[in-house]
Amino acid sequence: MLIVSEEACGEVVGRAEAFAAIENIFAAMARDDAYNFPVVREAIGHADALYGFKSGFDRAGLVLGVKSGGYWPGNAANGLANHQSTVLLFDPDTGQLDAVVAGNHLTALRTAASSAVSIAHLARPDARVLGMVGAGHQAAYQLRAAVEQRPFEKVVAWNYHPDMLPRLAQVAEEVGLPFEAVDRERLGQTADVIITISSSFEPLLMKGWIKPGTHIACMGTDTKGKQEVDPALVAAATLFTDEIAQSVSIGETQHAIAAGLIADTDITPIGMVINRGHPGRTSDDEITLFDGTGVGLQDLAVASVAAKLAKERGKATEVAL
Ligand code: NAD
Repeated sequence: MLIVSEEACGEVVGRAEAFAAIENIFAAMARDDAYNFPVVREAIGHADALYGFKSGFDRAGLVLGVKSGGYWPGNAANGLANHQSTVLLFDPDTGQLDAVVAGNHLTALRTAASSAVSIAHLARPDARVLGMVGAGHQAAYQLRAAVEQRPFEKVVAWNYHPDMLPRLAQVAEEVGLPFEAVDRERLGQTADVIITISSSFEPLLMKGWIKPGTHIACMGTDTKGKQEVDPALVAAATLFTDEIAQSVSIGETQHAIAAGLIADTDITPIGMVINRGHPGRTSDDEITLFDGTGVGLQDLAVASVAAKLAKERGKATEVAL
């Protein structure tokens, strides 16, 4: 049995490996070769924490396992990431534990890879301005992965806590892009691709502010009640997601569904676009919206790559079961 630490994950899995793993697992899900099990997520009544399990089975890749963890909002004040998680991988032939893989770095990588896959497949080729809504732990990963998908020339950003923006500006500088803090309306009017990655419970972007042709990756809404965009904007966009069942229950489309503005049949799994069973964007004026809710199979996919590479490179600790 392998133990793969946060440090080892950071050494062996980068953005390229995560992108390939996520694109591959979304494609497998759309072929019904891989499926997620129902998610458990509970407020535990301690430390204000949300704790749960995400699990699934990739029959094609033979990856079985569970990610356990959640969100501890007080962690940042103590120098820890608010999201904490660990992935357990099991041998699908025997049920024996194969690996314990640290999940924090991998969660951020797989979440960024998810929006990056959506940008790669759905954004206009001439997209030049990236808009960021949110500037927390995930936002830096999101920005770095996004700028590899199109030749962006500028980043515009807004955050609920403006004091967090300089850290994101620093990331933009590191990837060689000018950065401008703007209000939300201007962000909508200037950005060609927008990533929302906040913990908002109300709409931050309104339909009237968004340019035709924009691609929006809604990444922050992963719980019932959370919300980042106007339901009218959701209804006006061509909708894609990682998994429809999660999108309509805990993802960004939950509000437009509840308001009767859209039906689940209006939403396409992005894997269908990857598999060329759906054309994706069909016009330059279309607004495309990807609802990235975060599925367990993403975690298993990157954890399995981490375990394989860490073993090959002598970065994993082997222990007897
Ligand atoms: P974080 O705690 O580091 O940052 C939170 C962000 O939300 C900050 O930008 C903060 O300013 C902003 N924010 C806080 N309160 C707000 C409010 N009332 N209105 C608007 N914005 C507010 O968290 P993080 O790790 O960066 O995660 C951001 C969000 O992404 C969370 O909601 C998290 O649950 C979600 N997430 C989704 C996935 C996925 O797969 N879709 C994966 C990981 C995290």
